[in-house]
Formats: sequence, C-alpha cells, structure tokens
Amino acid sequence: MYDVIIIGGGAAGYGCALTLASVENTQEWAKNKKYLMIDNGKSDILNASFFNLAGVPFGIGGDELYKNMQTQLSNFKSCETKNDTVVKLEKNGENFTVTTENKTLEAEIVVIATGMHKFEIESTLTNTIIHNDVMKPGKIALENNNNKIGTNLYVAGLASGAKTMFAIANGEGAKVACEIFKLWTGKSAVAHDVIKDKKI
Ligand SMILES: Cc1cc2nc3c(=O)[nH]c(=O)nc-3n(C[C@H](O)[C@H](O)[C@H](O)COP(=O)(O)OP(=O)(O)OC[C@H]3O[C@@H](n4cnc5c(N)ncnc54)[C@H](O)[C@@H]3O)c2cc1C
Repeated sequence: MYDVIIIGGGAAGYGCALTLASVENTQEWAKNKKYLMIDNGKSDILNASFFNLAGVPFGIGGDELYKNMQTQLSNFKSCETKNDTVVKLEKNGENFTVTTENKTLEAEIVVIATGMHKFEIESTLTNTIIHNDVMKPGKIALENNNNKIGTNLYVAGLASGAKTMFAIANGEGAKVACEIFKLWTGKSAVAHDVIKDKKI
C-alpha cells in the first residue's frame, strides 16, 4: 500500500515525486510515507534539448536531464520507481487499485502525469477531452478542476491541459504535491530546504 502513486515519470511526474519525497527527513508527518512513480519511458523530455530551463546547463540534452532527475530522486528512500505500464485505475473503497502490466498495487492518493499523447488507462474515474492548447492536433487531456479530478485523484502536466513547456509541467507536479501536503497537514504546506547554518 502506497500513500501516493504517480502514474507517468516525465516533467510533471518528477516535479511531484521530488517535492513529495524531499520532506521525508524534515517533516514529522512525512516520515513514514511511501511513494511510487510508475513510468513506461516515453517522456517528451527524451526528444528535446533545453535552452530555456532555469538553472540547468544551456542546451542540455533531454536524456541527460532525465538521468539527472533519476539520480536526484534516488537520493530519497521514500520514493520507489517502477518501469511498467499502468493499464487500469479503479476505486477500491477509500483507496485506489492501480493495475499495471505486471502487478496490482494500492494507493491512498493517485496523481496522473501521463502527458498529452494518449490516455490508455481503463478507468471510469477519468474523462478524456481534447487538449486545446497545443499546436499539433489530436492531443488529449483529462477533465479536471485546477488539477483535481476527484477525491484524492489529481492530474498534472500536459495531461491536465497545461501548455507544453517543461517548467509548467514540472511546476504542476510540484503544485499537486503541495496540495497533498495540505491534505495531510490541514494547512498550507510547502517543501523548502535552507542552507545549513544560514540565518534567515
Ligand atoms: C521535441 C521536443 C522539444 C521540446 N523542447 C522544449 C523546450 O525547449 N522547452 C520546454 O520547456 N519544453 C520543451 N518540450 C516540451 C516538454 O518536453 C514537455 O512540456 C514536458 O515533457 C511535458 O511533461 P509531462 O510530464 O506532462 O509529459 P511527459 O514528459 O511526456 O511524461 C509523460 C510520461 O508518462 C508516461 N506514461 C504515459 N502513459 C503511461 C502509462 N499508462 N503507464 C506508465 N507510464 C505512462 C510516458 O512514458 C512519459 O514518460 C519539448 C518537447 C518535445 C517533444
């Protein structure tokens, strides 16, 4: 049983996973949380080179950026990653059942971050619509209200209908993570680390 399963490990999935996992050692309420990100390796990042991302080397290749994100996330023990394809998403009482090609998993909260190309997960919980903010036709999004699909079910990145920029997708992942923190703490919560011994 996971506290959060993130479906899709691209810009939005990593934004969510890194934000969730980054408080594992700093917040008492986050100490025993368990996260899982499931991805089948087709992120748009892998076809891009980036000249407009703040704070990363100018022109970084998407494959290098992707590897950096994988390494960064591996520093946190609370978040596992699985290379797999999710095929079904169902509600099971208060929780969710997430079925992949290889396993059946349970989670309290699910974040969908599957990009804009297609949504092939069987589910009565989601409604696929046309992504109307892209240059190429035939792209999709999931109906949502400010990244929320339903109770404990969120969507982030291009799957939410966001504009096709890395920073926007990544930021939506982080935003959803902060919404989850708020759910758990009952108040506004963010993931901020500070420079050791610096007085602020
Ligand atoms: C050629 C190209 C160049 C680009 N250049 C730039 C640029 O210069 N600057 C910029 O800001 N943006 C750029 N972008 C856009 C940027 O890459 C995207 O905005 C960003 O990757 C979207 O993030 P996302 O997480 O929504 O989707 P993605 O990064 O596409 O991630 C979605 C992930 O979900 C996974 N997935 C889907 N379905 C399932 C499933 N059922 N089970 C498991 N996993 C699943 C996919 O394999 C994928 O890894 C470019 C994109 C392309 C294609």
